[in-house]
Amino acid sequence: MKTFLLASLSLAISATAADKIKVLIVDGQNNHQWKMTTPVLKQILEEPGIFSVDVATSPEKGKGIESFQPKFSDYAVVVSNYNGEPWSAATKQAFEKYVSGGGGFVSVHAADNSFPEWPAYNEMIGLGGWGGRSEKSGPYLRLRDGKWTFDTTPGRGGSHGKQHEFALNNRAPEHPIMKGLPAAFMHRQDELYNSLRGPAKDVTVLASAMSPKDMGGSGEEEPLIMVIPFGKGRVVHDALGHGAEAVHCVAFAVTLQRATEWAATGKVAQKVPATFPDDKKSIERP
Ligand code: ZN
Repeated sequence: MKTFLLASLSLAISATAADKIKVLIVDGQNNHQWKMTTPVLKQILEEPGIFSVDVATSPEKGKGIESFQPKFSDYAVVVSNYNGEPWSAATKQAFEKYVSGGGGFVSVHAADNSFPEWPAYNEMIGLGGWGGRSEKSGPYLRLRDGKWTFDTTPGRGGSHGKQHEFALNNRAPEHPIMKGLPAAFMHRQDELYNSLRGPAKDVTVLASAMSPKDMGGSGEEEPLIMVIPFGKGRVVHDALGHGAEAVHCVAFAVTLQRATEWAATGKVAQKVPATFPDDKKSIERP
């Protein structure tokens, strides 16, 4: 009897696990504290109970990146916390095939610094920064008269001023990721990336923020959460999430949870929590 109960219980558990959206976080190299942020990203994603999350950690820099061959196709969505050495040709090809074939991809913060030399990756993220990015990488996206327009002015791709708390402006209130979120909401202290450049093909800006000049910023409204189609795949470029303050933030967590579900399924069934911040005050995650 006991054996039978245990057997059916474990069956029930595995059925539930099988219903969950399979997420793979990739990390292992980053100029940021990925060993601190990956567990927070994992916890954020496990919280709603709809995702099962695995982590694939690459070898350290110079220790054989060729052996890094995650099985992307086993997952509905890949979340990147990776900014490091180029992956092998085989891994790049597998990733392109995975996303273009309908896989989801969420790029978090410095993941958009990665792979300046990889054209398909830059198409996926739409815009990127650092790594020698310049006008050769593509235009800046600038908000002019309410429209995101290409600015081909020569200059570097990627910069940020001093870290600070800032308001995110909801630029696509009808998009499933943004639906039900306020017109503006506060995000905890973070690096506000500015002047990213890239192919910027079919980018829909979901959230942006003013990068103030007096904090060393661009004086422009900067796109910070974007969606980009890549073949049959859905990509979310989330430029937020530099460090501890930024990831322990309700605005960051909820937008990441919604972005990951959307990248995987094209829909968002999660409800916006009552604790979601307004445009006055950011909220630390419990
Ligand atoms: Zn950073």
